[in-house]
Amino acid sequence: MGGMGRPGTGGGAEASEEAVGGERRGQVKRAVPEAGGGAEADAAVRWIEGASDGPLLLCVGGLHGNEPAGVRALEEVAGRLAGQSGKMAGDFVAAVGNIAALEAGRRFLAYDLNRVWTRSRLAARRGRSAPEDRETARLARLLKQVQERRRGPVYVLDIHTTSSGGGAFTTTAGLPANRRFAQVIPVPLVLGLGKHVEGTLITHLDQFGWTTAVFECGQHEEAAARARAAAAVWLAVRAAGLLREEDVPEAARGFLTLQADGRGLPPVMEMTHRHAVTESDAYQSRPGLRNFQPVRAGDIVGNDRRGDVAAPVDGRLLMPLYQEQGEDGFFVVEVKEGEGGGAPRVAGAAVETARAMVEAAGGVVETAEAVAGPRKTD
Ligand SMILES: [Zn+2]
Repeated sequence: MGGMGRPGTGGGAEASEEAVGGERRGQVKRAVPEAGGGAEADAAVRWIEGASDGPLLLCVGGLHGNEPAGVRALEEVAGRLAGQSGKMAGDFVAAVGNIAALEAGRRFLAYDLNRVWTRSRLAARRGRSAPEDRETARLARLLKQVQERRRGPVYVLDIHTTSSGGGAFTTTAGLPANRRFAQVIPVPLVLGLGKHVEGTLITHLDQFGWTTAVFECGQHEEAAARARAAAAVWLAVRAAGLLREEDVPEAARGFLTLQADGRGLPPVMEMTHRHAVTESDAYQSRPGLRNFQPVRAGDIVGNDRRGDVAAPVDGRLLMPLYQEQGEDGFFVVEVKEGEGGGAPRVAGAAVETARAMVEAAGGVVETAEAVAGPRKTD
């Protein structure tokens, strides 16, 4: 994560952290590791080793270069966790996804780093030298190192933002362990993305038997997205079991923050439609559409060079496209029947417990918007 920091965000706690890269301040900085270098030599990775054996939580931000919120949140959380490593069982690893694209502020430069992770696509890229080929190789080395150095089960949280505003949500492959992990973050869980989109990083991680979830934490430029991402990382720290409940009050606070933001949406939804687009379609969403906005079959949601584009089914709209890059015009999701979800829980504790913990620590519960304040994200 070196180079992703802002002055003052790291605290004074880096001393207890395994040194990974030197640069800590200033703007996003290119960090191309030397050929064959391990993740430790990678300035875009922070590896915080806990005092005793335990699970490993790998968090990834910025797989898409126009989504810096996760990167910033990880810098903030890693800075604070570094000071807690003496209490930590297991390891916390924070990684930056597409460094070159983050530097350019674009989703990707040559190809989408979150669509390349199939056997055939990886094979097709082998030996090539586009910017993303270097990023892919760097991340593959990191995954290998995680597998070699882990001292317990591995959890992965992959943090993204969307070009549309509206509700935050999680996605996972539908395995029970993944669903349990995703649902410690109290926002809707969207299932079935894997049926519509190929080559995502977390699908690739299925082969390792790791527990994975994606968190879409808001709109790219929204200041609250970073606060939501940080809240989710604390919840993942707690859920993975890196710290005891009393050592991570941020998890309870984060839970209540996210719950306050996401109130009123169904807990589990299923993706039923993806509107695929190519650059030549010149697809544009109608202005003002938001995540989870109800739509009826036939509603016009955008247009392309052939004319109006309608939602083909009833449901709720997800990720209507408001950026040039990307191959998904919009998705439609619907409530998954029989998925009431039960009472929300914070990593095993009831909401009331979380609230009591926050209040006992002298904190108040705020929405991510309130935490972030009115300023734009940096
Ligand atoms: Zn993304």
